[in-house]
Amino acid sequence: MARILVTGGAGFLGSHLCDRLLERGDEVVCVDDFSTGRMANLAHLEGHPGFRLIRHDIAEPIALECDAVLNFGCPASPKAYQSDPVRTTTTCVNGTLNMLRLADACGARLIQASTSEVYGNPGVHPQPEGYHGAVSCTGPRACYDEGKRCAESLVFDFRRHHGLDAKVVRIFNTYGPRMHPHDGRVVSNFVRQALEGNALTVYGDGSQTRSFCYVDDLVDGVMAVLDAPAGFAGPVNLGNPAEISILEVARRVIALAGGGAGIRHAPLPIDDPVRRRPDIALAREALGFAPRVDLEEGLRRTMGAFAGAPPEAAPTGMH
Ligand code: NAD
Ligand code: UDP
Repeated sequence: MARILVTGGAGFLGSHLCDRLLERGDEVVCVDDFSTGRMANLAHLEGHPGFRLIRHDIAEPIALECDAVLNFGCPASPKAYQSDPVRTTTTCVNGTLNMLRLADACGARLIQASTSEVYGNPGVHPQPEGYHGAVSCTGPRACYDEGKRCAESLVFDFRRHHGLDAKVVRIFNTYGPRMHPHDGRVVSNFVRQALEGNALTVYGDGSQTRSFCYVDDLVDGVMAVLDAPAGFAGPVNLGNPAEISILEVARRVIALAGGGAGIRHAPLPIDDPVRRRPDIALAREALGFAPRVDLEEGLRRTMGAFAGAPPEAAPTGMH
């Protein structure tokens, strides 16, 4: 049994990680500022003897004793991270620095949640970890993309200069229950719109692609990295390489919802990557990572969860 600090534990991925850690008998300290996270994601853990919640902004230092840090505290949807871009950069850079210092002070290992966004609008397809990316450092996505790139560089400096056992996972588009229905991401938008009987908003002509990973598969990958030997640092891609156009995702969601909803095209956001697909050879070989849930099944589960949840407005971190 270990004591694990999960930053962003009230969010989509963080709350699933808290569950998985508690299930295997670890003790969990969740640190979250609730900017995009919500109590509803943790309500089932209230009173759990192994779970503790601290409301705190990781851009400010915090002292805690733990064996490992899962640094997932950061807004992830473009709508959320662009609503206060300076705060996003501060969370990525100062937040990661604070967590690395904390891990260093107590001899903990650290797993940094990085992103496929470090590849930007990729010139290499699919994206292997060795590809250095094509990121705009001045566009509206830069606060997140460059913030996460800087966070990766901090992780590797702490490895080299402090001997810290810190590792980087590069997460590709992940979806599932507990995404906020108003976070503006494509799966949450499409599923909510279809359930409400509204047209699905496809940005541009919908020919841009993404590769969608179901949350349970992603959590398997993060847990494997958490348990990997100290010599394994990554960065390692985690995602499902099944690539699909956004228009086709819309068609599948509409079909699952019974076929009634239409499609409405809206302008493509600035710097929207044209295509994205992870090369997961490293994760397969080093970690035995193998995503199992296909998009059809994952969308069905997500739709079921959204349909069963009480209606919600957008939280303060998502203007
Ligand atoms: P989310 O918005 O649901 O969760 C993020 C959580 O972090 C929220 O609970 C939020 O309140 C908290 N948070 C934000 N800033 C904070 C701060 N300064 N201090 C403390 N807590 C803070 O997003 P998610 O999809 O669960 O993403 C979690 C992590 O995974 C992020 O680091 C994100 O960059 C990374 N990631 C996610 C995806 C994905 O597809 N879901 C893809 C790539 C990377
Ligand atoms: N998208 C869309 N309609 C929406 C939300 C998003 O067509 O209602 C598109 C968006 O332009 C992008 C893709 O879906 O091409 C994935 O967007 P998301 O915000 O989920 O993630 P990211 O762009 O960070 O991969």
